Amino acid sequence: MDLVVTAATRPGAGETVLGESFKTVPGGKGANQAVAAARLGAEVTMIGRVGDDHFGTTILNNLKANNIITDYVEPVTGMESGTAHIVLAEGDNSIVVVKSANNEVTPAYIDKALDVIRDSNIVLIQQEIPEETVAHVSEICANLGVPLLLNPAPARYIKDTIIANAAYFTPNEHEAAILFNGMPLSQALRKYPNKLIVTEGSKGVRYYDGQQEVVVPTYKVEAVDTTGAGDTFNAAFAVAIAEGMALQDSLKFANRAASLSVMKFGAQGGMPTRQEVEENL
Ligand code: ADP
Repeated sequence: MDLVVTAATRPGAGETVLGESFKTVPGGKGANQAVAAARLGAEVTMIGRVGDDHFGTTILNNLKANNIITDYVEPVTGMESGTAHIVLAEGDNSIVVVKSANNEVTPAYIDKALDVIRDSNIVLIQQEIPEETVAHVSEICANLGVPLLLNPAPARYIKDTIIANAAYFTPNEHEAAILFNGMPLSQALRKYPNKLIVTEGSKGVRYYDGQQEVVVPTYKVEAVDTTGAGDTFNAAFAVAIAEGMALQDSLKFANRAASLSVMKFGAQGGMPTRQEVEENL
């Protein structure tokens, strides 16, 4: 759950300021990606956890309202739901994320969902869950032959074996700089042909096709709020690949979906439907 405050100034250490507005909005990378994929017409099963608090109920209801299967989103007894505490002030945001129930998305918890993973056309995963769980899911997918789209956000060190298990690896350019630890981007792209897809905001995406670097430009739009652009991009890319679209076409589809999403406020609020994407391709 995103807890969003707007204020004229942000408080320094030990200071109290008056804010202007407060709202709570369902968020989190995994949930955002699930909502974006469902809105594009995919049958989506979310594997995650909420707390047994009031937010947990709201989050679950929001997933259900977006036609997401929530059989594998179990509340954790006695724990809070994951929250992001966002202050919008002075034209920028500061965010404190408290993972809480997200920490309970353990490897053992994932094993309860093996059947649904086995039956899936693709698995999309991000990193607001424990590191060992990402490693575990990558092994399951490799063993079952289910393609894995690993969105390494937020950025943290990832073992090469995990990247090897993924079919696609999609950092944004800031995450790529952290993950590849100073390696020039062109070198990193060459190391992972047709796998490493780097999103570059209003420029689109870049990858290496085995012979040359390819840039798939995004669409020119009036950007109002880019929160969740990456989530929409990853979800749309996953949907397209799962449907058997070719790589470049899938990236074009994902650019279209993500560019439409930045034209409206809010991460989930701006996510387009299948029809909106196809009408504008
Ligand atoms: P993140 O949201 O993770 O920071 P990016 O900023 O790279 O990721 O954006 C992800 C994708 O969203 C881009 O590759 C592009 O398709 C789309 N996008 C983001 N910002 C814009 C923009 N200003 N105009 C058009 N498309 C955008």
